[in-house]
Amino acid sequence: MDFTQAQKRSQELRSIIKENNEAYYVFDAPKITDFEYDELYRELKRIEEEFPLLITPDSPTQKVGDKTIEGFNEIKHKYRLYSLDNSNNYDDLRKWYERVQKENSDNQNIEMVVELKIDGLSCALSYENGILKLGATRGNGIIGENITENIQVIDSIPKKLSKPINLEVRGEVYMPVSSFEKLNEENIENGIKEFANPRNAAAGSLRQLDAAITAKRDLHFFAYTAISEDRELFKTHKQALDLLSELGFEVNPNHKLVKNIDEAIQECAYWENERFNLDYATDGMVIKINDISFQNELGYTSRAPKWATAFKFPPEEVWTKLVGIELGVGKTGAVTPVALLEPVQLAGTTVKRASLHNFDEIQRLSLNIGNEVLIKKAAEIIPKVIRKRENEDFGVYETPKYCPSCGAELIKPEGEVVLYCPNNLNCPAQLKGKIEYWASKEAMDIDGIGESIVEKLWDKNLIRDFADLYALTINDFMQLDLVKEKSADNLYKAIQQSKNPTMTKFLTALSIKHIGKETADIIANEFPSLENIKNAEFERLVQIPGIGEKAAKSLLGYFKDESNRTILAKLEQYGVNPKGSAVEKVSDIFEGKTFVITGTLSQPRNVFEEKIKQLGGKTSSSVSKKTSYVIAGENPGSKFDKASALGVIILNERDFILLSEGKNNE
Ligand code: NAD
Repeated sequence: MDFTQAQKRSQELRSIIKENNEAYYVFDAPKITDFEYDELYRELKRIEEEFPLLITPDSPTQKVGDKTIEGFNEIKHKYRLYSLDNSNNYDDLRKWYERVQKENSDNQNIEMVVELKIDGLSCALSYENGILKLGATRGNGIIGENITENIQVIDSIPKKLSKPINLEVRGEVYMPVSSFEKLNEENIENGIKEFANPRNAAAGSLRQLDAAITAKRDLHFFAYTAISEDRELFKTHKQALDLLSELGFEVNPNHKLVKNIDEAIQECAYWENERFNLDYATDGMVIKINDISFQNELGYTSRAPKWATAFKFPPEEVWTKLVGIELGVGKTGAVTPVALLEPVQLAGTTVKRASLHNFDEIQRLSLNIGNEVLIKKAAEIIPKVIRKRENEDFGVYETPKYCPSCGAELIKPEGEVVLYCPNNLNCPAQLKGKIEYWASKEAMDIDGIGESIVEKLWDKNLIRDFADLYALTINDFMQLDLVKEKSADNLYKAIQQSKNPTMTKFLTALSIKHIGKETADIIANEFPSLENIKNAEFERLVQIPGIGEKAAKSLLGYFKDESNRTILAKLEQYGVNPKGSAVEKVSDIFEGKTFVITGTLSQPRNVFEEKIKQLGGKTSSSVSKKTSYVIAGENPGSKFDKASALGVIILNERDFILLSEGKNNE
């Protein structure tokens, strides 16, 4: 590139960067991703390094931030606020370290503190005699906005320190990712524009001219710098962080003192993946020299300290093209769209698919095949589509009317956003999905039975539901062309060995709508046997903490359904019994009798329930005319009153034991 070309390009870049600075800093609504911005910024920096004559005083490479919002009072900072130099590769970190080492006249080990770079809004707080006097945004580093009123509502900003000292504190105001997602959901519902990311949500919430709005937003503050005229207060950055904690600030616990650049890089690499498990956004790591007198020796450029640098993580958001939409039919009939993408690198992996949640979401984003979409890496394995490029119109993908697997007309149950294929009995996708899920790790955990084996067994007409797995013989497996590691013998054995699952696994494996693993666990803990679960009553179920009406209805509906009963009967016939349900009948003196237990007994209820079953009786959770006996322990509840009113026989524990021993005391 010659000088004229460089001049033209640098002017172009300055103008693009300026425009995006305004969108980002003033309006908290970026038009491009940070990664794209950083690329433009670095390009400009490279040109300016090659042609220093092109550096203008107002170049973004020489300045911090941007203008302040009109409406806020401006404040001149007592101590200037800087930005940070950054890079996105470890070689640059080493180069920075080499530069620092050259200045290290003592030739001692250079200790550094590695911290998370919190993606929020930097804020300067002034304390006089331990009392919070002033809060300001960074602005252009020299002049910021007075946000003293707004920060009063942030709990993690102490209004009074535990020591009456003068101190300037710097830190980052941020919004937890979960609160950001909730806020955006509310904004969508109220037809308000969403925030692009947690950083913009935090900035937009804090810089509200009406502090009452700020008060409604979930904002937090991590303190990361202290400045004091008292040089004895702390001599290292680590000591400053410890002091901040002691004074009542929240200091991000994920900081580490390291002794060399290798350790610093190791820490950066660790957080590159681990960051997705945090409930706040971080866009990189900051490496700071620990010794404050050495920091002062190193000093500042016009824009950033020389004693610190940032390592930016690979982008967690990236643009790519939506090349297709795949319709998946889940085991409960839920039809979900998955975005098929032009392969793209995102946070270290190649991404080809992303979640689109449901068809309402496609409508909301007004998406269609051909659109450029912004995808984001989240804690989940599959990234999600955030939005399409503004002003790009390919129409909107039409919501399907029919099941892609069986052709049944799709339905949308009231109050739900998901579309379902109602053909639970004959839809191949649903049936295969249920079988795969039955064998999956989360459910019955049958080693070797996955999508491809299920597909092969299905194609050979050997299975139509998960109970059929237990009728398979070694010969059946021999008919399939199995991959080497999977022997017919092993697959057969794995199935046979799964016949006695825990109740939680069994219930989970049935694929009952709204009954996932956690709900199954709650139910399994509450009822000792499958029989009890089948006979549970709605009122009893919804009283159990963690069981909502939807789950209760779905559970009861499942056991009433004839086709499900057939599968359950088949499972029983093949000897598949969840643990706890295998109560052996020893007599039938309670045949035809139904018991209800209320109040506290000397032993857990399930001991009595098991006894009743052993003797051929049934238990129920609520009293009706059909109830034969109520066993009442201490502090019996309303069931006791109901039983009295209906004239049902009430037994105490001793009466019950006598009755079970055949000593009829009726
Ligand atoms: P920066 O965000 O890259 O780094 C400096 C800031 O890091 C500090 O001001 C401070 O607020 C923050 N920080 C977080 N944790 C910290 C810690 N532990 N220690 C010290 N500081 C910490 O720099 P910047 O000047 O605020 O912004 C520039 C960046 O903003 C760009 O690199 C880009 O990513 C983004 N940006 C994006 C757009 C866009 O259009 N997408 C526009 C402008 C800026």
